[in-house]
Amino acid sequence: MPKRAKRKRGLLVVISGPSGVGKSTVVRRLFKVDPDLLMSISSTTRPPRPGEVHGQHYFFVTEEEFDHKVKKHEFLEWAKVHGCYYGTPKSFIDDMLTKGQTVILEVDVQGAASVKRLTEEGKLKAATVFVFLIPPSVDILAFRLKKRKTEDEELVNYRLRAAIAELQVMEKYDYIVVNDKVESAADKIKAIINVEKERTLLN
Ligand code: ADP
Ligand code: 5GP
Repeated sequence: MPKRAKRKRGLLVVISGPSGVGKSTVVRRLFKVDPDLLMSISSTTRPPRPGEVHGQHYFFVTEEEFDHKVKKHEFLEWAKVHGCYYGTPKSFIDDMLTKGQTVILEVDVQGAASVKRLTEEGKLKAATVFVFLIPPSVDILAFRLKKRKTEDEELVNYRLRAAIAELQVMEKYDYIVVNDKVESAADKIKAIINVEKERTLLN
């Protein structure tokens, strides 16, 4: 019987999608389906929304603090999204991947492109899979974005215009998942993770 190669590194699951498509909601459900998954918590200069907790949803920092982290190379990638800065913690991801964990990274399309470039350049030695979450329709996306009531009308319209631009790049992702029902979208992502984990076993 052939010897099974040992998996040395974990799996980095990069999830992107337009604002309001339901990324946070689906990821929350995903953690119920598989509590062993780990979430990467980004730093952001965006002010917290009602109910958001520092260290749980994001690390909410000032622009000065964010700059300091950039200068200290603390981010795997960082980007300006909708006028605020967001960055992915490098050491947490490195540590968890070394331990063989599966880490979920929810980033915008710039962040996903940066992660892809880092893996292609050999600067990030990890199995990665890129998942793009799409709404059943643009009208439904507009409805969800407005329903959340976390941005004023101007910001909602800004995020909607950005969403339409973001949808153009979805073909670059490994998988496109339609967020029709939260449960089924989470189940589909879980199935992708299962398949990708099997694939990385042989890398
Ligand atoms: P994102 O993290 O992509 O910006 P959210 O998770 O905040 O999006 O979801 C935006 C809004 O859409 C929230 O009010 C959420 O409850 C709702 N939502 C998310 N997924 C679904 C779905 N499958 N069906 C109906 N509403 C949804
Ligand atoms: P929100 O303000 O709605 O929480 O997030 C806005 C956008 O920023 C979303 O597309 C989200 O995926 C993205 N985002 C969150 N954290 C990061 C990060 O660390 N890096 C990048 N590039 N994007 C992020």
